[in-house]
Amino acid sequence: MKKIILATILIGAAIIALKSNANTIVGRTITNPIDSAKKVIIDPVCKMKIKANTSKTTVYNKITYNFCSESCKQKFLAEPAKYVKK
Ligand SMILES: [Zn+2]
Repeated sequence: MKKIILATILIGAAIIALKSNANTIVGRTITNPIDSAKKVIIDPVCKMKIKANTSKTTVYNKITYNFCSESCKQKFLAEPAKYVKK
């Protein structure tokens, strides 16, 4: 199941890469939601800025969270509600 999701993301990223090239020509005025997912995001546990698409991710309430390290991921998994803002 995870491999299927990963493959979908990789295919999506390839399509976005092609589309973002087109966006560059028109001045990158189009905000692509998947493109923004590639930007720097905040680790919910330690608040460190990290890059998305690392292997240290987990899905909670249908939202994917990225972590700087395995230890932050484990802290999150132990008490996800503590780190998720409602
Ligand atoms: Zn962290």
